[in-house]
Amino acid sequence: MSFEKLNLHPSILKSIQEAGYTEATPIQQQAIPAALAGRDLMASAQTGTGKTAAFMLPALNRIATPSASNSRGPRVLVLTPTRELAAQVNDAARKYGKFMRARTVSIVGGMPYPVQNKLLSQGVDILVATPGRLIDHMERGRIDFSRLEVLVLDEADRMLDMGFIDDVERIAAATPASRQTLLFSATLDGTIGKLAARLLKDPQRIEISTAQTRHTQIEQKLHYVDNIGHKHKILNHILADVELRQAIVFTATKREADSLAEDLYAAGHKAAALHGDMNQSARNRTITKLRHGDIRVLVATDVAARGIDVNGITHVINFDLPKVAEDYVHRIGRTGRAGNTGIAVSFASSADRRHLYGIERLTGQRLEAIIIPGLEPQQRASSGKPAGAGGKKPYAGKPRSNGGGYGGNRNHSANGNTGGNNAGATGEKKKFWHDAKPAAGNRPQRARRPV
Ligand code: ADP
Ligand code: MG
Repeated sequence: MSFEKLNLHPSILKSIQEAGYTEATPIQQQAIPAALAGRDLMASAQTGTGKTAAFMLPALNRIATPSASNSRGPRVLVLTPTRELAAQVNDAARKYGKFMRARTVSIVGGMPYPVQNKLLSQGVDILVATPGRLIDHMERGRIDFSRLEVLVLDEADRMLDMGFIDDVERIAAATPASRQTLLFSATLDGTIGKLAARLLKDPQRIEISTAQTRHTQIEQKLHYVDNIGHKHKILNHILADVELRQAIVFTATKREADSLAEDLYAAGHKAAALHGDMNQSARNRTITKLRHGDIRVLVATDVAARGIDVNGITHVINFDLPKVAEDYVHRIGRTGRAGNTGIAVSFASSADRRHLYGIERLTGQRLEAIIIPGLEPQQRASSGKPAGAGGKKPYAGKPRSNGGGYGGNRNHSANGNTGGNNAGATGEKKKFWHDAKPAAGNRPQRARRPV
């Protein structure tokens, strides 16, 4: 569907054209008409599918008509979990609002208050903010929400994970009850549903996909690793690949991000760390360098890398597997963006089997295990039942026949969505553990997976 059919203001269409977008993405096709009609929305779609424009274009469409109020407060408020995401949403608002008069201001932690006070005093159309700092300004009486028309909660699930629920509710309570509320989240279940019930009025629910939709543009691979030394060797092997333009390497902790980045830098890579202990200007500089290609390997933690949208990222490497399965989906979504393809590589030791199992259950996809000749894992998957799986071994056993996708014996699907609907559409490779390239030696290759 082209954007022309969406009834957007001509100045918005012009900026879309300049951005080079020809077709609206599925989430945009559904969310934009509903939002233009004034509906509250709770929407989810996988990362990298253009959710920002899905809420920003209808929001800008309102700004295209002058406000009747002579207040100077924001007409649109976007709340984001992190500063990086706020910066991106802010950039998107400027890009899509380039041909109209819309003043966009970003208010996040780590920036000096006097500068922000000045920005806020000058009249704002679109305010993009992280909850904590916004509340600080609200408490000081610096925000006038009297003419607020739209409240957007971007990555609402993440805001809840990060403990912002009270802040979000407080902010919402300070805005006019007549507002339109647009909630975007990776999932719409659980706590999100409860939050939505409190903040949204008769919302239209749009779910383009769940985490179980395959990231068909992202090739997902797995390396079984014995220990940290083995991880380093495999990482070096991957980084030597000339096809790797830029990579984000995820570690479990900020300390590890720093030390791995230092090691890689010392080994001659254009590497740098990104994590929440860095001050905001250092984080911004790092993202800018990444965007300009001055950094090839970014070593990051989940929170800091959340939402990063850099098209050159060809590889995401889970040096440490995420503890929370949803984070896996967010991590790999840093690659394969804007029509590109990407590769996501995860390292898993036998201690990670539960996390691996959780990830595969969430995504409904089995990761393809890869063996690099000379770097074979010594400890092969052997012992144990899948933790928490009640003794079932859903992944164990024989290679499956072709055609059934993952539907066959996976009985733990949350919504029955793991079956043929995806498999047929994607024509994906059927790569399983037993497909791993044979290693030297005579171990049986059809070993049971360690999940
Ligand atoms: P999400 O929030 O769903 O993760 P983003 O809004 O960050 O995704 O968009 C991901 C990328 O896709 C951005 O680089 C954006 O410019 C691009 N994009 C968004 N909408 C379109 C479109 N209709 N056509 C082409 N590219 C698009
Ligand atoms: Mg987004």
